[in-house]
Amino acid sequence: MRISQKQLELVNRQIERLIAADNFYGRRLKEAGVGRLETPDDFLALPFSEKQDLRDAYPLGLMACREEEVVRIHSSSGTTGKPVIIPYTAKDVDDWGEMFKRCYEFAGCTNRDRIQITPGYGLWTAGIGFQNGCEKLGAMAIPMGPGNTDKQLQMMMDMKSTVICATSSYALLLAEEIEKRGIKDKICLRKGVIGSERWGEKMRKRISTELGIELYDIYGLTEIYGPGIGINCLGETGMHYWDDYLYLEIIDPATGKPVPDGEQGEIVITTLVKEGAPLIRFRTHDISRIVTEPCHCGSRFPRIDVISGRSDDMMKVKGVNVFPKQIEEILALFPELSSEYQIRISHLDGKDSMRIYVESSGSNDFAALQKKVAETVKSRIGFTPLVYVVELGFLPRSEKKSKRVIDERFQ
Ligand code: ZN
Repeated sequence: MRISQKQLELVNRQIERLIAADNFYGRRLKEAGVGRLETPDDFLALPFSEKQDLRDAYPLGLMACREEEVVRIHSSSGTTGKPVIIPYTAKDVDDWGEMFKRCYEFAGCTNRDRIQITPGYGLWTAGIGFQNGCEKLGAMAIPMGPGNTDKQLQMMMDMKSTVICATSSYALLLAEEIEKRGIKDKICLRKGVIGSERWGEKMRKRISTELGIELYDIYGLTEIYGPGIGINCLGETGMHYWDDYLYLEIIDPATGKPVPDGEQGEIVITTLVKEGAPLIRFRTHDISRIVTEPCHCGSRFPRIDVISGRSDDMMKVKGVNVFPKQIEEILALFPELSSEYQIRISHLDGKDSMRIYVESSGSNDFAALQKKVAETVKSRIGFTPLVYVVELGFLPRSEKKSKRVIDERFQ
């Protein structure tokens, strides 16, 4: 989707701000001799920015406003190396809240809802983002934070929560606990707003059926405000995103060139009105595509498809490139299997091997099932994995993100 004249004008203002701040990206723009952008092609000549650039700017090198204007920082969790620190002005916090409010509205939430928020509060953007949007909407926030499932369920019953905000792993855990404890008739949930991890259609169906609620996928990343920059609408899986705050491109991760609308590629985001830490052409490494068909809901906001993976999630096994999503799609073909799986890759006797552990949904003939799954992977992807079907509930459940791929070759 080409950049509009109006968006281009906003990018020009972001560039002025960055150059004036003389931060890492401002210096890079200056070195590249970037002046005013007149055409969409001028935009495509701008250099990309990467997570590593943001790490290098630690702690406050991204700041593009006066320090007196910064009201808050957030930080990405950074499992490796230095974290990224993002400064926010009061307007940034407000803009983020407006975007998040829009997400709740797209999900059909109103100021009559009671919204139970289970993502974590703290340096990261999760809990506080859900909270900020909820307050803007005028709904009642129940700010639980993560964990303590007993208390979560007690509050859910006593407060008659109508909306649950959670990761998909935690929503599944809660759904299973509600079923186990036989308390479904005391639960008033009608919607789930689910963020921060990729999940399959099968898991979505389980959570939605077991809890009897509508589910919405929320998109976002700490570097670009946080969760709340996009969400799906009722009955659709593609997510609307807010093109008055952000410009999204889809590029070929190998060449950096834009792909035609509708084709898969990496999401690259440019902020249009950010003050604390504007980002130009930030490479998210999330894989998706622009949905070209107009949405039945009639909204003018453009859409991207569900995130299908990360460009850096690609696994190379026996010389074959494979994404976790491809394995997930194969597992979804078998109704005898549940949504939960784990992939382990190891290197033994000079050879790569992939083991797939997957939970049964009730079938007892594990041996025949294992053989069928292995054969399907061989025919569709090109190598034969070792498949182990296990009892339902065997694999670990998580209150945060489930770790689905474990590469033992690098441990
Ligand atoms: Zn829609």
